[in-house]
Amino acid sequence: MHKIDIDVVDMTLDVMKYVIGRITKTHPELGIPISEQELRERIGQTISAKGIGGQKAFELFREVLVKHTVPIDHPRNLAFVPAAPTRAAIMFDLVTSASSIHGAYWMEGAGGIYCENEAMQWLVSLTGLPQGAFGVFTSGGTAANLSALVAARHDWRTRSKERMSQRGLMVCSNHAHASVKAMAQVIDADVLSIDCYGAMSPHQVIEAVNRLSAEDQDRIFALVVTAGTTNAGIIDDLRGCGELCAEKSWWMHVDGAYGGAALAAPSVRHLFEGIEWADSITIDPHKWLFAPYDCGAVLYKDPQKAKAAHTQEGNYLAIFNEPQFTGFNPADYQIQLTRRVRGLPLWFSLAMHGTDRYSQAIEQGIALAGMAVSAIEKRPYLRVTRPSSLSVVLFERIGWSDQQYSQWTYEQLARGFALVAPTKDLVDGAWKTVARFCFISIDTTIEDIESILDTLE
Ligand SMILES: *Cc1c(COP(=O)(O)O)cnc(C)c1O
Repeated sequence: MHKIDIDVVDMTLDVMKYVIGRITKTHPELGIPISEQELRERIGQTISAKGIGGQKAFELFREVLVKHTVPIDHPRNLAFVPAAPTRAAIMFDLVTSASSIHGAYWMEGAGGIYCENEAMQWLVSLTGLPQGAFGVFTSGGTAANLSALVAARHDWRTRSKERMSQRGLMVCSNHAHASVKAMAQVIDADVLSIDCYGAMSPHQVIEAVNRLSAEDQDRIFALVVTAGTTNAGIIDDLRGCGELCAEKSWWMHVDGAYGGAALAAPSVRHLFEGIEWADSITIDPHKWLFAPYDCGAVLYKDPQKAKAAHTQEGNYLAIFNEPQFTGFNPADYQIQLTRRVRGLPLWFSLAMHGTDRYSQAIEQGIALAGMAVSAIEKRPYLRVTRPSSLSVVLFERIGWSDQQYSQWTYEQLARGFALVAPTKDLVDGAWKTVARFCFISIDTTIEDIESILDTLE
C-alpha cells in the first residue's frame, strides 16, 4: 500500500503545470458538465479488487473527469461566490496534506497550529475586536455559523436554569444566508426572520421583536447580522445592531462569510463600523481571501464562552489537558474534533505575499464591480437594479423572462465560455429574476466583463 509510483508525483505536478495549467494559466479551460450516464459510458467502473493502477486512474481524471468540472477560480466564473486561491496557497495545500498534521490539539499539531494562529491574529486585527478575542478555522461558513450559534445559545442557557428546557429563538433578516436558517434546524432553535429591502436596522429589529409575546422575547439568544449578503453584498447596520444587542443582552453574531474579507479593503472599511461589538464573526478565507477549499473561520470576542460550549471530554482525550501539553486546542472552539490544519495554505500565502497584497487584491474585486456597472450603464438593453455593494452587481436584461435567464446560463456554460447565473432582486416592489456578478478573481479583466455582457444582447 505504501509503494507509490514516483510517476504519480510527476503526474500531480503535470496537472498543475501543463495539462490543466492550474498554476501557469490565468484562463484555464472551463469544464462542461455532462450527465452521469455519459460519464459512466466513458469512465466505467474504477474500483475493483485489484485496482486499476495509478497511471490509469490518473489518466481518467486528467483526460476526462476534470474536464467536466468547472474551475471555480476561472476569471469568467462570476456566479454564486467564486473563489480564487493564490498559487502559493494551492501549492501549500499539497504540503499541508503531505505533512499529516492533526489539527485538533496543540500536543500533536503545535507547529501547524502556530501558523494558523498567526493568520488568525491578522483576521482578528482587521475586526477591531477587543484584546483577548480569537478564533479558529472551520470547514466553511456553515460550520462557523453553527459553531457560533452553539456558543451563543450555551451562553444564554448558562444565565438561567429554566432556559435549559426552553427553545431558543434567533433573529435575522430575510437576506441572511440560507445556512443560518439551516443551522437553526440543527440546533433546534426557532428563527424570527425580518423582511428588509436593504441593510437591516436596529429599528426594524425592535419593531419585529415588539410584536412577540414577552415570553418569546425572553427566548431570544442571538441576533444574526450580515456583513455582506451573499446575494447583493449588503452590510447591515452593525453599530446600531451592536448597541441593541448590548442593551438586550443578546449575542451578536456577524456573518461575514463573503463580505468579511473586505475589512482589509481601506476604501470600504468604514462600512463595517460597529463590527467590534460582535460576540462572534464568520469570515470565509475560501471565498474572498484567496484560500483553497475548504477554509472558513469563526472569531469570538470571548473565546472562553466558545470553549465552555465546545470542549469535548472523554477518557482518551484527558491527556491533552496535562500541563506539559497545554496550548491552544482548536477542537475546543468549534464543532469538529479531528481536523486538518486548514488555515495553513492561507498562512503560507499571507506570509509569502504580505497583507498589503491582500488588501490590493480585495480592492481589485470592488473596482471590477464598479467597472461592470459602467459597462452595464452603457448598454441600453441592461439596467442595474440596485447600487453595487462590495463586489456584487445585480442587473436586469430588460424584457427577459425567467426562462431566458436560465437559457443564458446554460448556453454560456455549454460552450465553455463563462459561468454566470441569475438570482432574484426586489425591483419596483416585486421579486424579479435578474443577472448577478460576484467578483473575486484578480485575473478577471474588463474584456471578460464586456464579452459576457455582449452575450445578453
Ligand atoms: C457562503 C456563505 C455562507 C456559507 O459558507 P460555506 O463556506 O459555503 O459553508 C454563510 N454565510 C454567508 C453570508 C455566505 O456568503
